[in-house]
Amino acid sequence: MTTIIDGKAFSANLRGELARRVGILKQNHSVTPGLAVVLVGEDPASQVYVRSKGKQTAEAGMKSVEHKLDAATSQEEVLKLIEALNNDPSIHGILVQLPLPKHIHEESVINSINIDKDVDGFHLSNVGRLSIGADGIVPCTPLGSIMMLKDHLGSLSGLKAIVLGRSNIVGKPMAALLLQESCTVTIAHSRTKDLAAECREADIVVAAVGRPEMVKGDWIKPGATVIDVGINRIQNTDGSTKLVGDVEFSSVSLVAGAITPVPGGVGPMTIACLLHNTLQQACRLNGVDVPE
Ligand code: NDP
Repeated sequence: MTTIIDGKAFSANLRGELARRVGILKQNHSVTPGLAVVLVGEDPASQVYVRSKGKQTAEAGMKSVEHKLDAATSQEEVLKLIEALNNDPSIHGILVQLPLPKHIHEESVINSINIDKDVDGFHLSNVGRLSIGADGIVPCTPLGSIMMLKDHLGSLSGLKAIVLGRSNIVGKPMAALLLQESCTVTIAHSRTKDLAAECREADIVVAAVGRPEMVKGDWIKPGATVIDVGINRIQNTDGSTKLVGDVEFSSVSLVAGAITPVPGGVGPMTIACLLHNTLQQACRLNGVDVPE
């Protein structure tokens, strides 16, 4: 029978565990982890996401700071804010909500964040650290995905994994993490010749392409574990909308050994991992171990 990997329950457990550790950190070291989120503009999806981050940060007992800037804010002003947050000892994590308005150069802003406060793990130094397997900050969505995979499968060593998508925020870091777990990793993308045949070889399929229900049941090796990162809003015949992943759940769930649903799979893990990274960095910046 196919296991549905419940990201909602997994992330609730993780957040509960983090709140417990934050309590110990406050009590033993008088350190309250602080997360600052910078939002430029009024993108509705980003606003929802930022609200949700703020709420969950506070629920974990951490300090949550939101900087909402007008869409016309200059790059210089954003960089000045980042500098102030870099120098603020009560802030241990800085997250700049992407995408930024077109007149702001994303890479310059991301790379201006202190690498030890870059809780999204997008700074070039953290990207480099991940690629050589050094200690650093791991991007939240791939981190949540690998946590669920390890929880479900135990050791991933020797398994064949395919990552569909090669973006800097999901596909590439995901592939690096699977490699670190000693998987044999294939990275597929829009130029891959026979995607279905490549997928059929894999014990683990991670789909991150942004194409609604692209991965079908007959692409999947029986018993494989499928992680669906995709979040796509599609229209029903009656005009209402719903969220679907990059995987066709109805057909894939008949073949896979385990699958993450959308919604309720990878999505909820992303914010939980953001809080995980913030706690880790609060400890590192204060020279103390993460409480057990
Ligand atoms: P990007 O658009 O940055 O990258 C998409 C990747 O998929 C590219 O590498 C592209 O290939 C590849 N691709 C696109 N079409 C095809 C195709 N037909 N066949 C094979 N490969 C294809 O997307 P992201 O990585 O940012 O996001 C991917 C999905 O994950 C989206 O649905 C997004 O909403 C979701 N997401 C979910 C998160 C969560 O919290 N759960 C967080 C972040 C993203 P090429 O490079 O050749 O163009």
